[in-house]
Amino acid sequence: MKNIAILGSTGSIGTQTLDVIRYNDDLNLVAISAGSNIALLEEQIREFHPQLVAVWSEIKAKELRLAIADVTPTCKVVSGMEGLLEVATIESSDILVTAIVGMIGIQPTIAAIRAGKDIGLANKETLVTAGHIIMPLAKENNVSILPVDSEHSAIFQCLNGEKDNKISKILLTASGGPFRGMTKEDLELVTLEMALKHPNWAMGRKITIDSATMVNKGLEVIEAKWLFDVEPSQIEVVVQPQSIIHSMVEFEDGAVMAQLGTPDMRLPIQFALYYPKRKYLPGDRLDFSMLSEIKFEKPDMDTFLGLKFAYDSLHVGGSMPTVMNAANELAVAKFLNKKVSFLEIYEMIDFCMQHHRLIENPTVEEILSTEQWVYETIESRWIS
Ligand code: NDP
Repeated sequence: MKNIAILGSTGSIGTQTLDVIRYNDDLNLVAISAGSNIALLEEQIREFHPQLVAVWSEIKAKELRLAIADVTPTCKVVSGMEGLLEVATIESSDILVTAIVGMIGIQPTIAAIRAGKDIGLANKETLVTAGHIIMPLAKENNVSILPVDSEHSAIFQCLNGEKDNKISKILLTASGGPFRGMTKEDLELVTLEMALKHPNWAMGRKITIDSATMVNKGLEVIEAKWLFDVEPSQIEVVVQPQSIIHSMVEFEDGAVMAQLGTPDMRLPIQFALYYPKRKYLPGDRLDFSMLSEIKFEKPDMDTFLGLKFAYDSLHVGGSMPTVMNAANELAVAKFLNKKVSFLEIYEMIDFCMQHHRLIENPTVEEILSTEQWVYETIESRWIS
């Protein structure tokens, strides 16, 4: 039996993780958390009977305690960062799935690693901002960081059994998002509703916008650098609009390994939960006789600046990826609230990156104070 804790159980990755747990008798849910969706948390508690539940706001936590008082007196409800830390480190868990969105995941992920929990990592913002702390810490604590992001899972699968072989490059595939092929002028006119329509994947709102700006692919480049210990120059982004090839690895002899499949996040989630074993997964299979083509394109980094910002921030290093990520988190929140335009997301990231005073090797406290600086900088310049 494997005991699982999930940060962000009410989101897109969280609910798909629960799907995987639902049809596997040897997976057991012990702890969950969410921001504010207590209605769904209540359903999850009634179905899976976790021991511990964290809700971000104490007011919502109180409401949830009342709502579940009848059925589950054994379920403890906690709140705030303390609550997330409790879920992350609960003694009974073997693995923590980080399906929470944003760099709020840093402290719980670090706490879980210190407590010896393996990590099923979906929360890329944590690795983007604190990869230099997390990867050595995981090694020190003998903890596995198992990628859930489909591209990184694909690379991880391509590297299976290749430990002693030299990678020449990683080919990180990208769908190109809903605005692929558009010009800068076209992007001036795009709306929130248009940006929320991803061509291939159904995902949470923040990552869907990140896919439209290509910031998501940028964050994934940084995530790949930390997960697979490669140089930024060894990570090449390839647009593959059908999202059938989830990523590839080229080895020094020129051989290229790829992982293909239908766009279904349950596969990488299940692979992370059972690694190194594969298990039957219900769902659609690729039908090659129905595939008319698999296309490849170069990403347009001059129009979709998300990728350019990521390579720039990796090049500078230190606290710069935190600046890029934090500026993006706030900019996307503002775009989702219709406070700013699509292109202003790029302007906000660019402005913060241009004006940041670099910290070479930031501690967790410095990462969080850099986030604060970014938020104050944006709020004072873009008064909404
Ligand atoms: P969603 O927005 O669907 O879900 C986010 C989850 O985080 C929800 O459970 C939400 O709770 C919770 N949450 C948000 N804020 C807080 C908070 N302050 N305290 C506690 N919990 C909070 O996001 P996704 O599932 O799409 O993405 C999650 C992560 O996985 C992201 O880092 C994303 O980049 C990554 N990822 C996602 C993929 C996908 O297919 N969706 C693919 C690859 C990576 P509530 O519902 O209450 O708001």
